[in-house]
Amino acid sequence: MRKKRLADYGLQSERVLWKGKGPGAFETELGDLESRLGLTTLDKAVHWAQSKSMWPDTFGLACCAIEMMAIVSSRYDIARFGMEAFRSSPRQADLLIVSGRVAHKMAAPLRQIYDQMLEPKWVIAMGACASSGGMFNNYTVLQGVDKIVAVDIYVPGCPPRPEALMEGIIRLHERVQAGVPPAYEVRGVAI
Ligand code: SF4
Repeated sequence: MRKKRLADYGLQSERVLWKGKGPGAFETELGDLESRLGLTTLDKAVHWAQSKSMWPDTFGLACCAIEMMAIVSSRYDIARFGMEAFRSSPRQADLLIVSGRVAHKMAAPLRQIYDQMLEPKWVIAMGACASSGGMFNNYTVLQGVDKIVAVDIYVPGCPPRPEALMEGIIRLHERVQAGVPPAYEVRGVAI
């Protein structure tokens, strides 16, 4: 006995009546949309999770570091962003807050710590000295930490108050959630 086709049940779809015809343009577009939507949603979820679980590395260099330490206090409470755990090992951290001037002697260890951090990783240059050398325009101080690592956010000030650092962190979270790649991807692998 011949197997009954859908058309035999009264369905009048073009695909059913036209043997061998593939899916219609609408169905193809719908399929693409579904896959695009699925990927976009997953990407957004990953970026959201990354921004809500950033762990900073403990790396204070000078006076700015005192202001950086304040962000874990109850007054500023960085735990609200899921990042109260300052890690003592770069292998457990994905955010390097360079707070203070970087002497040339310190440049190599800083770069080593940066290299030991797992990707994706981000860098905040906190204060005038880390961003540009600040008032120390001399032969001992690196004129900006972006000479040795790729910086995502610059926080101005001497020193910046903890509120300014918090704003820098929030701006970084916004960038991550918007899908902006880390600075090292934009600037290339070498730096
Ligand atoms: S920017 Fe000002 S507070 Fe920060 S390390 Fe330099 S001199 Fe110190």
